[in-house]
Amino acid sequence: MEFGWNFDNSYARLSDTFYASVGLHPVSNPEIVIFNEPLARELGLESAALQGEEGVQILAGNKAPEGSFPMAQAYAGHQFGHFTMLGDGRAVLYGEQMTPENERFDIQLKGAGRTPFSRGGDGRAALGPMLREYIISEAMHGLGIPTTRSLAVVSTGEKIMREMDLPGAILTRIASSHIRVGTFQFVANWGSYEDLQSLASYTIIRHYTDIPNSDNQYLYLLQEVIKKQAELIAKWQLVGFIHGVMNTDNMAISGESIDFGPCAFMDTYNPETVFSSIDRQGRYAYGNQPKMGLWNLARFAETLVPLLDDDEEKAIEIAQSQISQYMDMFEKNWLEGMRAKLGLFNEEEQDRELADELLNMMQKYRADYTDTFRSLTIGKLENSPLHGKEEFDGWLQKWEQRRGRQDQSIEESTELMKNSNPSVIPRNHLVEEALNAAVNDGDLSVMERLLSALEDPFDYSATEEKFCSLPPSSNRPYRTFCGT
Ligand code: AMP
Ligand code: MG
Ligand code: MG
Repeated sequence: MEFGWNFDNSYARLSDTFYASVGLHPVSNPEIVIFNEPLARELGLESAALQGEEGVQILAGNKAPEGSFPMAQAYAGHQFGHFTMLGDGRAVLYGEQMTPENERFDIQLKGAGRTPFSRGGDGRAALGPMLREYIISEAMHGLGIPTTRSLAVVSTGEKIMREMDLPGAILTRIASSHIRVGTFQFVANWGSYEDLQSLASYTIIRHYTDIPNSDNQYLYLLQEVIKKQAELIAKWQLVGFIHGVMNTDNMAISGESIDFGPCAFMDTYNPETVFSSIDRQGRYAYGNQPKMGLWNLARFAETLVPLLDDDEEKAIEIAQSQISQYMDMFEKNWLEGMRAKLGLFNEEEQDRELADELLNMMQKYRADYTDTFRSLTIGKLENSPLHGKEEFDGWLQKWEQRRGRQDQSIEESTELMKNSNPSVIPRNHLVEEALNAAVNDGDLSVMERLLSALEDPFDYSATEEKFCSLPPSSNRPYRTFCGT
């Protein structure tokens, strides 16, 4: 059967301290639950074959694809601030698929069974969380935010034991790589100087090839990774995305969003919003994400110190001076994005204040984040809790005047807003509804309709009213769980 596999497994050519090659753990009765045909096409893979009898065996981790090199990657990480040795405890990397465009993507199975890094875990994953990752990652992609993607979810036909028995599933995750801050932490702590050099050089070749000749290449790597994260986290903030577990093992060096466990989109605007049941201190609350990005980048910079200069003190100084530029970069990206959300093309000194005033009112009157911007975009504010408030009317006047102080017309300004403020996001109640139907009733149609709306979240004409509606009011805060 011709699947279109075209593996070139460069990670396997690194020192074997970076990974463990692994055998497969077959499951009894795998079935395709959902499959991403457009993504398969981009990867140069044959959808029909992969959804056929033999293809399912591959997506379930029962049979390795031709040319693959199944491995579990080693990494470490600060989890909620505490440093631990980790590694792919429930993921198997098949290898790197070279696409028809000659791009390189990791093909990884998540939930494929135990590996040498599993510690006490069973290496498995449950259907609900894997479908959740599928929805959110594809939604992020639709929103234009760098992200790992989801090729397929298969059910295993087996139960996994958690607080209660849950149906098992395996997600095929596609990433430009799975190199994490935690990968560098692992090598910096347990590898040799040569290992560190080799990982850093490998990462540059894989992700940051535009390196200028004159610079110290490792300094360049640090700068680029900082830049990418400042861009990524600004994008998260602008759409109200809360990752939920910004541990250093969940920060990809590529600048893609990765690991959609307890993540969720904020409804009512409040910087303190936390959804994750395990984040009791609010370490990874919405408003803390930029700072947590900085913290993780500082851990990354520490790992590079031996490569930045032979003189350690000087190397630390270099690292610090780079890290100290992150917050300004983040702010600049965020403000640029916020201007677009407000329909502003040019820059004025007071723009930050204008945005802050709006956000403060949204918090005070418990306005929905996405809906406020959507309502401003389409000029329909009568259902907003801000409607009729004197201070909001004052703000609207200021905003109208500000939109007048640019060369572009109001129509152009509105167009910019439409392209910057999603009409639909994977709201928690919509995601839950889709997962309930899929997991409890075996009905995938709800999820498919949601996915299709999320494909182009900026298409105001296409969105069904249902997908823009606010969550039903409830006095129970929304909670997300991970590890299942
Ligand atoms: P995650 O929250 O999925 O990023 O997982 C954090 C760490 O725990 C990673 O090293 C995972 O490989 C590991 N892990 C999570 N769930 C399991 C599981 N069911 N079995 C084995 N290891 C796991
Ligand atoms: Mg993780
Ligand atoms: Mg996770």
